[in-house]
Amino acid sequence: MAIPFDSITSGSRQDPSPVCSAESSIQGPISDHDSSRRRFLQMTVTGTVAGLVAAAGMEFTPSPLLAQSKLSPDAALQELMEGNRRFASGRLTAFEQDLAILKQNTVEKQEPFAAVLSCADSRVPVELIFDQSIGHIFVTRVAGNVVTPEIIASLEYGAAVLGTKVILVMGHGGCGAVKATIQAKEVPGQISALYPHIQPAVDQAGSNLEAAIKANAKIQAALLRESSTVVSGLVKESKIKVVAAYYDLASGSVTLLD
Ligand SMILES: [Zn+2]
Repeated sequence: MAIPFDSITSGSRQDPSPVCSAESSIQGPISDHDSSRRRFLQMTVTGTVAGLVAAAGMEFTPSPLLAQSKLSPDAALQELMEGNRRFASGRLTAFEQDLAILKQNTVEKQEPFAAVLSCADSRVPVELIFDQSIGHIFVTRVAGNVVTPEIIASLEYGAAVLGTKVILVMGHGGCGAVKATIQAKEVPGQISALYPHIQPAVDQAGSNLEAAIKANAKIQAALLRESSTVVSGLVKESKIKVVAAYYDLASGSVTLLD
């Protein structure tokens, strides 16, 4: 069956209204019997993903469903947590895999089984923390691990197109963004633009830093579940999990919060 991803992306680039263009272009070529694929395509192109893809000039692979992880959401979460246990106990294995994975699997496509939204903090190297290699985790990072439209767009692309099975929203010990929000510090430039995103967690947890960091991870995870139609749809179908987590700098351990 002809998959009209090429027509979607090329049409999107030329049309000033990429979402409408992409929607109309997929109605005809898809046969009625394959309703699940139709739903997938509609879901893919009607959200912010289409704009993201058009803007970035990204190419879809011809059959993205075939290039996605076969893990269940629970198994994907377990894989992450087992990787973290290897990291915390100093038994990393990912470096042994790099060359083979790079050569065999990731030149033409990517099939990350998990996505992580983490803070930009230099002490939170996401792949290392989960003992994962090239092509395994779709990572978005922003100070305070806050959910913004651009973060949602990225995670929607990971979920709807690349097939990530779990999204971990991960706060970490000693987070400077949360600390600054608690203190309502005067800061230069646009740093304070982070405060409104984090303030609900401070309102909920008070001035206790660790409690506010954990509350923030849970609030951002809930926000992602609710504000993304793509993610909430996949959650309802049990095709993805969104889980809040906390990374302890001293022990190297990740704890699930939900
Ligand atoms: Zn931080």
